[in-house]
Amino acid sequence: MTGSKKAPLLDDCRVWAAVFVAAIHTSPLAAWTPAGDFFLTRVLARLAVPFFLMASGYFLAQSGWRTLGRFVKKSSLLYGGCVLLYLPLNLLAGQVDSLPDFLRRLFFDGTFYHLWYFPAVILGAVLARQLSRLGTVPALSIAGLLYLAGLGGDSYYGLAVQIPALDSFYQSVFQAVSHTRNGLFYAPLFLLIGAAGKRFPRRAAWRGFLLSLAAMTAEGFWLRGLGVQRHDSMYLFLPLCAACLFSLILDGSQGRNRPARQFSLLLFVLHPWCIALARSAAARTLGPEIADNGLFQFSSALVAAVLLWSVLSRFARPDPKVRAWREIDSEALAHNASVLQAALPEGCRLMAVLKADAYGHGAIQAARCLRKAGVRAFAIACLSEGIALRRAGVRGTILILGYTPPEEVPLLCRWRLTQTVADLPHGRALAAQGRRLHVHLALDTGMRRLGVPAGDRDAIAELYRLPGLVIDGVFSHLPVSDCLDADSIAYTEEQLHRFYDAISWIRAAGWNPGSVHIQSSYGLWNLPEQPCQYARIGIALYGVQSSGVEVRRVLDLRPVLSLRARVACVRTLAEGETAGYGRAFRAERETRLAVVTIGYADGLPRDLSQRGGEVLIHGRRCPMAGRMCMDQLLVDVTGVESVSPGDTATLIGRDGEDAITAEALAAQCGTITNELLSRLGGRLGNVLIPRG
Ligand SMILES: *Cc1c(COP(=O)(O)O)cnc(C)c1O
Repeated sequence: MTGSKKAPLLDDCRVWAAVFVAAIHTSPLAAWTPAGDFFLTRVLARLAVPFFLMASGYFLAQSGWRTLGRFVKKSSLLYGGCVLLYLPLNLLAGQVDSLPDFLRRLFFDGTFYHLWYFPAVILGAVLARQLSRLGTVPALSIAGLLYLAGLGGDSYYGLAVQIPALDSFYQSVFQAVSHTRNGLFYAPLFLLIGAAGKRFPRRAAWRGFLLSLAAMTAEGFWLRGLGVQRHDSMYLFLPLCAACLFSLILDGSQGRNRPARQFSLLLFVLHPWCIALARSAAARTLGPEIADNGLFQFSSALVAAVLLWSVLSRFARPDPKVRAWREIDSEALAHNASVLQAALPEGCRLMAVLKADAYGHGAIQAARCLRKAGVRAFAIACLSEGIALRRAGVRGTILILGYTPPEEVPLLCRWRLTQTVADLPHGRALAAQGRRLHVHLALDTGMRRLGVPAGDRDAIAELYRLPGLVIDGVFSHLPVSDCLDADSIAYTEEQLHRFYDAISWIRAAGWNPGSVHIQSSYGLWNLPEQPCQYARIGIALYGVQSSGVEVRRVLDLRPVLSLRARVACVRTLAEGETAGYGRAFRAERETRLAVVTIGYADGLPRDLSQRGGEVLIHGRRCPMAGRMCMDQLLVDVTGVESVSPGDTATLIGRDGEDAITAEALAAQCGTITNELLSRLGGRLGNVLIPRG
């Protein structure tokens, strides 16, 4: 299949699967054709839940199972919500009378008839992950044996229990759980089939699907005829049929359909409620015949779900991944914070520098994540950044590293922000506001930016004597701590000398300098341990270096940010045709160009495309073509198969085996990562990848 013919089939099929599940629970054809209904709801529709499981397994394996923790957490939360939602129906049906029984249902069978899926997928995913460590074939074999064991307790029950040993086995199983269609016997196999992500050749997959469906149909009717089924969810041919179907779906699938995903979830979760309400309304008005009719229940459930969906979708917020977005890996951020903290000597703490929206990473998200990781002190550049953090509920010390005009002192006090004293006149003016303002004293030891000259003892003494200032700390900044040439090292040493001299003098004069700090990221990377209370760490926290220069200490830091955008469309240029502003791109041969939805207004340097800029699509490097536009750019995807609208293009970060680092991109544009990242625009969507 060519890319353009593919649809978001995987997501679209979720809707069908949810409709099939609703059919299983209503038997819509039973009143007219019991055999037809048996085929529809007990054979064909039995593919629905395996499909959901295979899709989950597929995505879990795509992430290298790294998203398992998150998946378990999300499913548990969803399950918890559903348990509460169905509690009224449980109560009405008298299903909460015995607490031990309710707990057993909570953990194994599900508290309402369709909710067995959640405990099954949670346990199944954990088991499947453990099995997958053995390799695909052993894992599938073990899961297959478990499935066979489950089969004997399901549609082959009457046959299995003729063997005494099996009879007693199933008796003890059914003491504990009410079905073998659960997280132990049933779910792992389908999760692992999905995880294997196997794509058979199309014709073979079609043949396999139709043949195994026919075999499964024969199997179902045979077992029904024998009357041996205890339940009818599991067949011998079901896994084969499901695997072929999934191969066909994967083969035709491209991109996502978020509404389809959301609708299918809504239908799956709510259809029993819809059925119950429609039934009881119909019983009172239209009579029991209609109320108990499966088609009536089935169509009511669908109509109710569609109506509810149309109301709820009005409140939907746009997906942050519609156009261009940054992904913040909070696991990496927390990891970096702990690595950096561990690299500091006893008594010295990390002050996380969150200026410029946390170097383009989103200051509020970053601050919340860092607080959870134990960071208690933050630095930002200006008043508004500090207020934004406080408004978002961020507690702890927040130091403003830049200048704030004295007339803003009331706001500084109101939001409990600590202000840097830029020089003597600034300190005097701040104090003159007549408030008790918490400050850190900046000492200029050679940066010649902010700070009282470190040797100007009179100025320092005057600042300490000002009644309005509460001096909680003293700091300085090192302009060449990133350089390892002899000159720079000597300059930094001279600065350290001036700094600690001033600190000793302050102590000797009877004042307490409070928290002392001088290192930023390169200070930590290149200097020996410092006798300080804080290290102000910016760029290292985000897991990148400013540039590729060598550093003395190697720390295991991980990049936190990825930058991605979508493919809007793909077009083919004939040899000699040109594209974009200034006709800057000329096709040397027939060329396929993809339009990617990100541009210089999102913070990318405009000349990146002329400097050899690339993006990753399907894990392959694609060169940028022509001039970058404000909101879009062109990339050459001639060599890359089946690129199509909706695909993800990665500008910074990993895609498959390959990755583009912020360092490489910054170097290409002749700048440092600090500039590149902090310029990332406010228009970008924000996607926080939670921990675990
Ligand atoms: C920005 C800044 C930092 C953080 O610098 P990094 O090199 O990103 O760690 C530290 N101190 C001051 C005064 C700053 O302005």
